[in-house]
Amino acid sequence: MAGALRFKLIYHDRYDLNLGAHVFPSQKFRLIYEMLLREGLAKKEDFLRPEQASDEDVFRVHTADWVRKLKTGTLTASDAMRLEVPYSPELVEAVWLAAGGTILAGQMALRDGFCSNLSGGFHHAYPEHGEGFCAIHDVAVAIRKLQADGAIKRAIVVDTDVHHGNGTAAISRSDPTVFTLSIHQLNNYPSHKPPSTVDLNMDDRVEDEEYLGTLIPAVQHALDTFRPEILFYLGGADPYCEDQLGGLSLTKEGLKTRDRSVFEEARRRGIPVATARAGGYARLVEDTVRIHFNTILVASDVAHAFPPASAARS
Ligand SMILES: [Zn+2]
Repeated sequence: MAGALRFKLIYHDRYDLNLGAHVFPSQKFRLIYEMLLREGLAKKEDFLRPEQASDEDVFRVHTADWVRKLKTGTLTASDAMRLEVPYSPELVEAVWLAAGGTILAGQMALRDGFCSNLSGGFHHAYPEHGEGFCAIHDVAVAIRKLQADGAIKRAIVVDTDVHHGNGTAAISRSDPTVFTLSIHQLNNYPSHKPPSTVDLNMDDRVEDEEYLGTLIPAVQHALDTFRPEILFYLGGADPYCEDQLGGLSLTKEGLKTRDRSVFEEARRRGIPVATARAGGYARLVEDTVRIHFNTILVASDVAHAFPPASAARS
């Protein structure tokens, strides 16, 4: 391990989505936090506690009607069916905290070169409805907040969750300041995939080599042509071969190489990286937690190899 962590981690003990026995292991955020401390990758002082995103921040992405339904618990039957997770006030608090956490991750990444939110990556949320376990779109909220504050103009979202980033694509479709790149299994949820800036459609059971050989050149090209000021990375654990909702065949080592390669391409170009977790439904929850942990482990290695310009001068 490459010594002390060079960036902050964002965590809140109310990140749990309160789902009980559900295919989404909503205790995973706490388990990642505990693994980071137990294995010595992070110390308590490396963590920052987010505030809930403000309504002003959320309204830059979501409609007043959808926010009201979430805050008052008045989802229609079809709203609830599309969301696919049981509604609770705790769920709403958790996703508002996740959005606040991804905002903070973006702000800290601009300062330190990296930052990682232990939650977030709710990429199926649309402006006016939630979908596929995602109630509000934390990454889109964070990008628009950073833009509104004048901190950045252009952002790229690199989404490696096994499922297409349909909400991200729909929200950013007519926004030339946001480049969206999604690599996903073609024959999987969601059935309707609005176009991302770049969609990398993987066939069923694609393995490490083919996946990485497709992803990395596409990331290089996107960074060189679009020149974003920040990269938001959705490090989905669900391309893993043992995932219950995924149909790709990546290994844990392949997933580490995926994360490391994207981080190196960004940091080599001086682009800050903020990470959020997205999905992970391995038969063994420990595998999902390990894959998410590994994303932060390789970020730590890359942060040592490519310090931010300000740190390099000091
Ligand atoms: Zn997914």
